[in-house]
Amino acid sequence: MTQAQRENFPPQLLDQLAAIRNAALADDYAYRQVAHLTENIGPRPSGSAQAKAAVDYVANALRELGLEVQLEEVKVPHWVRGAESAELTEYPQQAPDSKQKIVLTALGGSGSTPGDGITADVIVVNDFEQLKELGHAGVAGKIVLFNEIFDQQKAAAGLAFLAYGEAVRYRSAGPRFAAELGAAAALVRSVGNADYRLPHTGFSVPAGIPAGAVTAEDADLMAHLATQGKVRMHLTLTPQKLADATSYNVIADLKGSERPDQIVLLSGHLDSWDLGTGAIDDAAGVAIAMEAAEILERLRLRPKRTLRVVAWMDEENGGAGSQAYSKDHSLEFPRHIAALESDSGAAHPLGFDTKMLDSAIELLRPVQAVLQSIGANALQPSNYPPGADIAAMSEAGVPAFGVLQDGRTYFNYHHTAADTLDKIVPAELRENAAAMAVMGFALCSMKDPLPR
Ligand SMILES: [Zn+2]
Repeated sequence: MTQAQRENFPPQLLDQLAAIRNAALADDYAYRQVAHLTENIGPRPSGSAQAKAAVDYVANALRELGLEVQLEEVKVPHWVRGAESAELTEYPQQAPDSKQKIVLTALGGSGSTPGDGITADVIVVNDFEQLKELGHAGVAGKIVLFNEIFDQQKAAAGLAFLAYGEAVRYRSAGPRFAAELGAAAALVRSVGNADYRLPHTGFSVPAGIPAGAVTAEDADLMAHLATQGKVRMHLTLTPQKLADATSYNVIADLKGSERPDQIVLLSGHLDSWDLGTGAIDDAAGVAIAMEAAEILERLRLRPKRTLRVVAWMDEENGGAGSQAYSKDHSLEFPRHIAALESDSGAAHPLGFDTKMLDSAIELLRPVQAVLQSIGANALQPSNYPPGADIAAMSEAGVPAFGVLQDGRTYFNYHHTAADTLDKIVPAELRENAAAMAVMGFALCSMKDPLPR
C-alpha cells in the first residue's frame, strides 16, 4: 500500500469493511424489500398509486432504521397504458378471410389512435437514412416500422449496454422522426434479447402519433412479408397522457459523526415500467442501497460522513426526480463526496463503472481487495456518467460509481412483462448489497475525500 492508501484505510477500517461484506452475504433484508416492492406493491410507473405506495413504504422502512427521511417533491408525467392490439389485414399470398396477429405494446409517451384503431400500409426501414430517402411522399399516412436488430452477440460477450445503446435510439427518437415525415404511427422492433415474443416498452420522445414496440418475432414477420409486397395493418393503441402528478424522491440520511455536511449518496430508482413489476429495474437498486444503511445500523457502525440513501422517482419516463434533486441541491454538489447508483439489474456484481480521476481509483485499491473474494473488485473507468440519476452530479465533478453487474441476460427481461421477482437470484442480490455497502462505508470513512 502507498502512504496515502495506508492513511485512508487503516487496519481497523479494513476490518470493518470485511465485517460489512460478510454481514451482507448473510442478510436477506434487500431481498425482502424487493419482494415487497414487486409483489405487494407491484408495477410503479410515475404518477401511479403504486409509485406513491412505494414512496411511503421506503420512507417508513428507512425511518424504522433510524435515518432522517425527507420526501422531496417532484412533478412527474402521468401516462397510462390503454388498449393495445394489432393485426395484419393485408399481405402477399394471404389465405382467404385470414389475418395475422402482431404482438406489441405502447411506448411511454405514445399518442393514441381512435378507439377503433387505424388501418394503414406498413413500411419497414432498417435505419434513419432509409426513412429519410423515402421522404414525406413515401412516409405520409403510413405506419413506419424501424427494424433495428439488437445485437445478441454483443450482449452474450458482455457488451449488453453497447448493444442496447445502438438499438434504443430508434425507440427514443424514431417516432418523432417518422412523425416529422407525416407517418400515421411508428413502431420499433423491441430492444433486447427476449425471444419469447415479449414486447419491450420504454421512453420515447412524445411525437404526437401512436408509437409502439413489436416483438422481434413480429418485426421479422413484417420485414419478410414486406419484401414480397404490400402489407397493411390495423392498429389500436389508446394510452392517455393525464395531468402531471405530484410525487417524491425519498432522501434518507444516516448522519455522519465527524463531517455530517459531507455526503456519500447511494441510490436506485423507485419507479418502474408497468408491464412487469420492476424487480431488476430497479427495485433491486433501491433495496441494496437501503441494505447498506441497515447493515451499518445492525453492526453499530457510524459513518464519519453522512450516508445518504436516495430512492429516485421517474428515472424511466423523463428523469424528473434527478432533475429536481439537481435543481434543489446543486450548490451542495461540492460537498457530495461520491454518488453511487445501481440500475443495471441484480445479477452477480463484477465491481463498479467509475467516472473519476485515475488518482481516485488508485486510492481505492484497498477497498478493491475487500471485494475481491466475491469477484466485485473491478473499478472500470467509464467515459459516461455511470447512472442516469447521478449523471448531473457526475457532470458537475462528483466522483460517480455505477454497480457493474453481469449484464448478459439483463435485456432478456428489462422493460418487459417478465421483469419479476423470480429473475432475482438471492445470493447474487446479497453480493450486490455487499458491494454497495462496502464501497459506501469506505467512502464515508476514509480520511480524505476522493480527489476530483
Ligand atoms: Zn432503470
